[in-house]
Amino acid sequence: MHMIENAINGRRAAVHAARTAPVFNPATGEEVARLPLSSAEDLNAAVAAAKAAAASWGTTPPMKRVRPMFKFKELLEKNADEIARAISREHGKTHADALGELARGIDVVDFACGIPHLLKGEFSRNVGPDIDSWSDRQPLGVVAGITPFNFPAMVPMWMFPVAIACGNTFILKPSERDPSAPMLLWELFQEAGLPAGVFNIVHGDKTIVDAILDHPDISAVSFVGSTPVAQYIYGRGSANGKRVQALGGAKNHMIVMPDADMDQAVDALMGAGYGSAGERCMAISVAVPVGEKTADRLVEALAPRVANLKVGPASDAASEMGPVVTADAKRRITSLIDKGVAEGAKLVVDGRGLKLQGYENGYFLGGTLFDRVTRDMTIYREEIFGPVLSVVRAQNYDEAADLINTNEYGNGTAIFTRDGDTARAFADRIEVGMVGINVPLPVPVAYHSFGGWKRSAFGDHAIYGPEGVHFYTRLKTVTSRWPAGIRKGAEFNFPSLK
Ligand code: NAD
Repeated sequence: MHMIENAINGRRAAVHAARTAPVFNPATGEEVARLPLSSAEDLNAAVAAAKAAAASWGTTPPMKRVRPMFKFKELLEKNADEIARAISREHGKTHADALGELARGIDVVDFACGIPHLLKGEFSRNVGPDIDSWSDRQPLGVVAGITPFNFPAMVPMWMFPVAIACGNTFILKPSERDPSAPMLLWELFQEAGLPAGVFNIVHGDKTIVDAILDHPDISAVSFVGSTPVAQYIYGRGSANGKRVQALGGAKNHMIVMPDADMDQAVDALMGAGYGSAGERCMAISVAVPVGEKTADRLVEALAPRVANLKVGPASDAASEMGPVVTADAKRRITSLIDKGVAEGAKLVVDGRGLKLQGYENGYFLGGTLFDRVTRDMTIYREEIFGPVLSVVRAQNYDEAADLINTNEYGNGTAIFTRDGDTARAFADRIEVGMVGINVPLPVPVAYHSFGGWKRSAFGDHAIYGPEGVHFYTRLKTVTSRWPAGIRKGAEFNFPSLK
C-alpha cells in the first residue's frame, strides 16, 4: 500500500499520525493509497520551515524569485500525462479532462512568471515641500491554502504560484480524497530549483485545518471548498487576525432564451452539466428555458443526449464522464435524486443504478435529467455536485433573472441568446461574480481573477490574477524628506500643505 507523506523543508517527511484515511480509485472502488492525517506537531514543523525560509525569500529580487517558475512550467508540461493519470486515478475524471485542469493551472504559473511587473509601486515627487512619497506591495510571510477534491492540481495552482512569486512561503493542505497529484506538483517545483521551505505540504483533515486557522505564524489563508466550510474558515481565520479568502459552493443557472441557437445551447449544457460528472464549482446544474416552447424543445433535445452519455473509467479514451468521487458522494447524489422524484419533479432520464461491466464496485452514476423543477424543491435548493441537471421553466426573462438574483449562491451563470440588448442587461444586472454570454463555463483566464458573489465567496479578494497579487501582498506607503526639506521647530498641528 502506497503511504502518502508530507513535504516539509524540501524533503518528504513521515507523518506523526495516529489516524489514517484510505484513498480510493473511484472507478474500481479499490484503496490505492493511505493518507496519514497529520497532527499539530507536523504543522508546526512545516510552519517553522516556511517561517525560516520567508525572510530571505521575501527579500530575494522578484526576477530571481520567478526563475524556478519558468523551469517549473516546463517540467509540468513535460510530465503532464503522469500528473493527469494521478488526478484520474484518485478523482475519476477522464484523462482529457485532467489534462484540461492541468493546462488551466499551468496558465497561472505562466501568469506568476510575470508577477514582478505587478509588484511595482507608485511614486509621487513633492507631495509636500521637498517631500516624496512611494508605495509598494510587500509579502505577508507564511501563507496557507486549503483545497477541495474536485481540482486536485488546478485549485492548488490558483494559489501557490501567485503567493510564492509575491515573496511568501506556502503551506498546502490538499483534499484527503486525491492527495497524489499535489505531491507531484511539489516534486517538480523542487526539481525546478525552488529553495527548501518555500513550498510545503501537510496532509490531513479538520484537525489540521483548525491548527492552520489558529497558528499565530500563518498570516493568510486561501480556501476553496463547500460553503459551510468556507464560512467557518472565514469566521475562525479572520477572528484570529488572518487575511482570509474562502470560496464556497455554487448553484449555477444557464438561461436559454427563445432566440438561442438550440443546438449550441444543448451542446453547452451537456459539457457544462455532465463534464467531470458535474463535480465542478462552475458546472451548470440548472437550465432555465424561457417560454414553454423553448422548454419543450430543450428537454426533447437534451433527453437522448443525456441517456446516451458515455460513462466509463478514465482509462477508456471514449469516456465522456467518469465516476463520482466516493461511495458516500454516490449515495448522497442518489438520495437527492430520490427526493426530487418524491417532491414531484419530472424525472426524464434516470442515472441511478448504472452498472458497468468490469467496474461493478466503481462509483458510477448515469447522467440524470429533471424537468419541471421548482424553487422550493430540495434538488433546486441544494448543491448536488453530481451529474444531475434540473430544468426550471420560466415564463419570461425577468422571471429567469429573478431566479438567479434571489438564489443564495452567485458563483457562475450563463445566458444563451442572439439578442445583444438582453445579453447586455444580463451582464449588467445579474448578481453573480462570473458571467458567460453564450459561454457556459466562464472561468476567467489566469490574468483576470476568479471569484463568486453572495454565499459562493467570503472575504474581499478573488483568487489568482491581479486580485491574487493584492491578496498575497500588503501595501506599504513611505513618506520621506531629507534635512534640506525639514523646517525648524516642532509642529503641533496635523501636517498639511501651507
Ligand atoms: P469540502 O468543503 O468538503 O472540503 C474542502 C477542504 O476543506 C478539504 O481540504 C477538507 O479537508 C477541508 N474540510 C472539510 N470539512 C471540513 C471541516 N468541517 N472543517 C475544516 N476543514 C474541512 O469540499 P469538497 O467536497 O472537497 O469540494 C467540493 C466543494 O467545493 C463544492 O461545494 C464545490 O462547489 C466547492 N468548490 C468551489 C470552488 C470555487 O471556486 N468557488 C471551486 C472548487 C470547488
